[in-house]
Amino acid sequence: MTDDRRSSIESTVNTAGGQLYSREMRCPECGFDSSRVIDSRPSEEGVAIRRRRECESCSVRFTTYERIEISRRVRKRNGVIEPFDASKLTAGLRAALAERPVPDTAIDEIVRAIEARLFSGSVPVESSAIGAVVLEQLKEIDTVAYLRFASVYEDFEGAEDFEHALAELGEAIEVTD
Ligand SMILES: [Zn+2]
Repeated sequence: MTDDRRSSIESTVNTAGGQLYSREMRCPECGFDSSRVIDSRPSEEGVAIRRRRECESCSVRFTTYERIEISRRVRKRNGVIEPFDASKLTAGLRAALAERPVPDTAIDEIVRAIEARLFSGSVPVESSAIGAVVLEQLKEIDTVAYLRFASVYEDFEGAEDFEHALAELGEAIEVTD
């Protein structure tokens, strides 16, 4: 190991033994910054690589994903093109699923499904296409969340977009809490 540990967020080096080590991907359990890659395979229809890692300090196993950074853009109903903001989508989904018996990991899965299905190229994605996938995914995992989102989304359709619908939903739920 060299002293340039701080120089990169995730640098993978080949040691003499041929094993892959990655520095700076901190162990979620003990915070140690070196882990051994025990398995590496394509994921999300080939746009990501999933790595199983083992902490070199406490031996806990965890998973990381490596993805190609592509420009993810959304075309709004009014024609304006904006960068896709996964955190807004996550916050909205969290609001739709508030107090529902659905684990947080389900939200991450929806966001990943949207990214994998819609943002595989560099063409801007229609806002309505994202809204449609959100509806489809929610319908599968939780009827109440689906109805919450659908009722707000329908009101906005034509004029606004799913982001406004999700934001509105977040506010509505905060008020009733
Ligand atoms: Zn550890």
